[in-house]
Amino acid sequence: MAYTFYNSEVIDIIDVTPAVKRFFFRIPEMENFNFAPGQFVQLDLPIESKIKTRSYSVASAPEGTNVLELVISLNEQGLGTPYLFNEIKVGSKLPLSQPAGKFMKPPVQSDIDICMVCTGTGIAPFRSFLRDLIHKNTPHKNIDLIFGTRYEKDVLYRDEMEALTQTMPNFTFTTVVSREENPIFSKKGYVHQVYQELYADKHPANFYLCGWKVMIKEAIQNLQDMGYDKKAIKFELYD
Ligand SMILES: Cc1cc2nc3c(=O)[nH]c(=O)nc-3n(C[C@H](O)[C@H](O)[C@H](O)COP(=O)(O)OP(=O)(O)OC[C@H]3O[C@@H](n4cnc5c(N)ncnc54)[C@H](O)[C@@H]3O)c2cc1C
Repeated sequence: MAYTFYNSEVIDIIDVTPAVKRFFFRIPEMENFNFAPGQFVQLDLPIESKIKTRSYSVASAPEGTNVLELVISLNEQGLGTPYLFNEIKVGSKLPLSQPAGKFMKPPVQSDIDICMVCTGTGIAPFRSFLRDLIHKNTPHKNIDLIFGTRYEKDVLYRDEMEALTQTMPNFTFTTVVSREENPIFSKKGYVHQVYQELYADKHPANFYLCGWKVMIKEAIQNLQDMGYDKKAIKFELYD
């Protein structure tokens, strides 16, 4: 697919951890950058790489503005993210593509439970989805968000998601850490044990998986072993 690129300007950068930053882009030539939750954009980077574009899920919701947020983790062995982390500053300009992808399209069914499983920045499309749901006041059933990472310091959007558990009664947010010795607010282990427990009775649900390949492959297998149909499982691979 040939992407259309727009000029974008970085208007803010928030350091979340040494290896994760939130980047805010404005597209001056548009009044409203419209996209569906779950979609990604491409950044065209001036790097010495055969392919110069890198894909990033939009972490903000479509709220009728020309600003969008991306949450990006640094891959020190990569070519694109070291450029983004070291060279991109507030005021930098980068070509940014039209939105693409169908991860959470057609619109997520609202009459069935939703289980979203992610690792690291794989939370981006789910944050977009949740913010959109709130913004549009969309009716929904139970929504479980399961976030896996190595250490508790790497849990992304924690305050926001915990606040949401207070205002959205049928929303749960579970964090799981694999390497923390004594987790304070998370479970110890991997995301798999959480959905296996929550959905042990195999009640109807749609599953959305986003992040590292290893997690996604294992989750697809586990969910099918639990009896869920392939059609109930959607995923977005980051590597
Ligand atoms: C649909 C989609 C959405 C995504 N959304 C997000 C998101 O929201 N947030 C996010 O953080 N990431 C996201 N990603 C991942 C992102 O697109 C990049 O893959 C990631 O940022 C790494 O980019 P990079 O340029 O730093 O690494 P790359 O340069 O692409 O390198 C990746 C790996 O390839 C190897 N490599 C690279 N160059 C060489 C070389 N010359 N020789 C040998 N090995 C090499 C390295 O081992 C490196 O680890 C998404 C991916 C997809 C497909």
